[in-house]
Amino acid sequence: MSGFELDVDAARWRRHVAATVEARRGLVPVIKGNGYGLGRSLLAMEAAAVGLGTIAVGTYAEVPGALASFAGDVMVMTPWRPFFTDAVLDDRVIHTLGRISDVADLAALAPSARVLLEGETSMSRHGLDRHELAAAVAALGDLRLEGFAIHLPLQAASGGPGRPGGNVAEAESWAAALETSQVDTTTLYVSHLTPGEVGALAARRPQLDIRPRIGTSLWLGDLGALSVRATVLDSHLVSRGEHIGYRQRAMPRDGTLLVIAGGTSHGIGLEAPKASSGAVQRGKLLAKGGLEAAGLSLSPFTIAGKQRWFAEPPHMQASMIFVPASVTAPEVGDAVDVAVRFTTATFDSINLR
Ligand SMILES: *Cc1c(COP(=O)(O)O)cnc(C)c1O
Repeated sequence: MSGFELDVDAARWRRHVAATVEARRGLVPVIKGNGYGLGRSLLAMEAAAVGLGTIAVGTYAEVPGALASFAGDVMVMTPWRPFFTDAVLDDRVIHTLGRISDVADLAALAPSARVLLEGETSMSRHGLDRHELAAAVAALGDLRLEGFAIHLPLQAASGGPGRPGGNVAEAESWAAALETSQVDTTTLYVSHLTPGEVGALAARRPQLDIRPRIGTSLWLGDLGALSVRATVLDSHLVSRGEHIGYRQRAMPRDGTLLVIAGGTSHGIGLEAPKASSGAVQRGKLLAKGGLEAAGLSLSPFTIAGKQRWFAEPPHMQASMIFVPASVTAPEVGDAVDVAVRFTTATFDSINLR
C-alpha cells in the first residue's frame, strides 16, 4: 500500500463482466471518460478477452487510444460535427450522425465512412427528429449505414405523467418510425434500456437486432469486486482549539489528525464540501452538537466503521481527517476504506488480484 488505490478481485469482477455479456446479447461495452475508474485501456482489453467485436467510446479524443488498445470496431457516441478537429477517419471507426447537414458534410468528406443515424429522444441531447429521417437518408450518399441509435433517459426518470409507458413506449415508437422509414437498417443501438425493456421491445419487434450500449452495469455492476483503500501517511495528536492546515482552523475537540492519501486530484471532495454558513442553521447544528457545527464536512474515508470528518477541505493529493479521541485511530501505513464515485475517481494504482 502506498497511496490511493483500487484493488480488484479480478476473478469476481471478470465473472460479472462475462455473465453480463452472456445475459445481454449483442451488447456494446461503453468505454469512456476515466474508464469507470478502471481506465479505458484495461476495459478495452477485457472487452477483447470476452470476445466482443465492437466497443463504444464517448468522444473522438478517445478514439486513438481505443484503436491502439482494441483490434475491433470503435463506435463514437458523440455525433460527428464538421467543426471537430480531432475526428478520426478510419475504417474501424463508426460515426454517429444526428443532423441532416452533418450527414451531407461527412458524405462529402469521407464518402464510404461507416455511420449510425441517431434519433432524438426525450433526452433532447442529440439526434434527428423522426420527420427528418427521409432527408437524412437522402443525404447519406455512399456512407455505409450500420444502424440506428437512440439514447433514453435513466430508468428512474421513466414513466410518469410526461412519458406514459416510459422508455419502452418511446423505444417502441422509434422502432415503428424506423420500420416505416427509408432508413435501411434493422440494427437498433439502445442506451439505458433495462434488460426487461430490451426484452419487451425485442418481443414486439422480432425483426430488429437490438444492441444495448452498456457501461455502468457492465463494469461497475458488482461493486463487491472493487475496494478502494487509502494509506494513512501521517498522524498527529491534536487538542481542542489547536489550529491546523492551510486554513488554520481550530480543532473542535481533542483527537487525532490523520493525513490520508487521496485528494482532489483523485476525485475526492468533488461534491463540494459544504460547511453550513447561515447563523441560524449553525445555531441549530450547535444545539445538536455535531462536528458539522464546527464547520467540518463528512469525508468519504471510513475509520472504525464510520465515515469521518474532513479537518479541512481536501488537498490536491491528500486529505486531513479528524478522528475524535474516543476512537482508536489507525496507524501510519495502515489502509482505510474510501467510498468513491467511480466515474470521477483516479487511482494511484489499480491492483488486479
Ligand atoms: C455513457 C453512455 C452510455 C452508457 O451509460 P451507462 O449508464 O454507463 O451504462 C450509453 N449510451 C450513451 C450515448 C452514453 O453516452
